[in-house]
Amino acid sequence: MKDEKIVGSFQLMKSLNKSLILNTIRTHGSISRSDIAKETKLTPPTVTNIVNELLEEGLVKEWQTGSSSGGRKPILLKINSSNFYVFGIDISPREIRFAITDLNAQTLLYKTITMKEEMTSSRLFQMIAKQLYIMMDEACIELKKFVGIGIGIHGRIDADEGSSGFAPQLQHRNVPLKKELEKEFRLPVKIENDVRAMAIGENWFGSGVGISNLVCIKISHGVGAGFILNKKLFHGTNGLAGEIGHMFIESSGLKCSCGNDGCLEALVGSEGIKQRTLNKISLGYKTKLIERTNGMIENVNGQLIYEAALEGDLLAKDILEETGRYLGIAIMNIIHLFNPERIIIGGGLAKAKNFILTPIQEVVEQRALTEQAKKTEIVLSKLGDQATVIGAVALVLNEMFSVQYESVS
Ligand SMILES: [Zn+2]
Repeated sequence: MKDEKIVGSFQLMKSLNKSLILNTIRTHGSISRSDIAKETKLTPPTVTNIVNELLEEGLVKEWQTGSSSGGRKPILLKINSSNFYVFGIDISPREIRFAITDLNAQTLLYKTITMKEEMTSSRLFQMIAKQLYIMMDEACIELKKFVGIGIGIHGRIDADEGSSGFAPQLQHRNVPLKKELEKEFRLPVKIENDVRAMAIGENWFGSGVGISNLVCIKISHGVGAGFILNKKLFHGTNGLAGEIGHMFIESSGLKCSCGNDGCLEALVGSEGIKQRTLNKISLGYKTKLIERTNGMIENVNGQLIYEAALEGDLLAKDILEETGRYLGIAIMNIIHLFNPERIIIGGGLAKAKNFILTPIQEVVEQRALTEQAKKTEIVLSKLGDQATVIGAVALVLNEMFSVQYESVS
């Protein structure tokens, strides 16, 4: 927003009072002008003026309620959520997911593009820009109807780039992407690490609605967490907060990509699950997985293990249960450190549902310090594969209705 060239409805609503009123309307669903004044402590004329501006811009609409106890029916205000749109982009190591949604994160168009190779930032920009133009065409929506572009990007950088793989390295690649996209589309672009975007997405639209202290854990190739503490996204001093993949769990002999032994990611990330499965098979355990991989057991993956577990395969069930127990230890540590109200499990592993959720809950039940801690809610992501892309949309909405949330370090 520092760039004066950025135009559009976003800029128009940057006054604090405007955001405050917009957010009040959003959180109530529908509300009258006089109730907005009461709630925000703004004077009725100020509310009327700002609401008139919002009506003119098409961001809110009037709605007449049917219920009134005599006299005039009150006119309520609602967010005109289908009048403006957001681009959400989820950049993972192998694919990019794109969504166009309205201001309620209702998806109008969704698309996944597989990448054959790791891209340089300029190629990544070109590819994304091209897709956004194509999608605008397909959805028949003009650029001026968009309020922003949100991007969730995986926190680890390809080893070829020579980086250590920790989240702060991400900045080197993302800063040009953000700048280039802002220049091209003249829209604000919000970029966040994928799991933090997911945490905001779950908090706005998924399994964490209304929760002030929330931890979102994503388990796929890597393992990370996004923290919302006191309704604010937490980054830590250098943006390293949430690197739970490198929490020490057990000295198992499995080496982590960070060079240490026994990190959570080395045990429950997709490579870790595969490695533990191969180790057990090499010890002579019987399993349907050999048949399911046509004897090429090195091709085993989480999906096959889950399917085998559903069919009652003991080794597959054992692997998932062990995975749940490792996660349970990590989650118990998180509960003791942050005492969250709810923990949400997302990423590919969440598809294993109760095969992992039950052992996680058992570990927490056995080991947590207090009765309340034992009862910490641990749930699966509601947004599933779209959690990060919806989270990316929520990053833009978060900025737009920026009363409730701001990032803290
Ligand atoms: Zn590690």
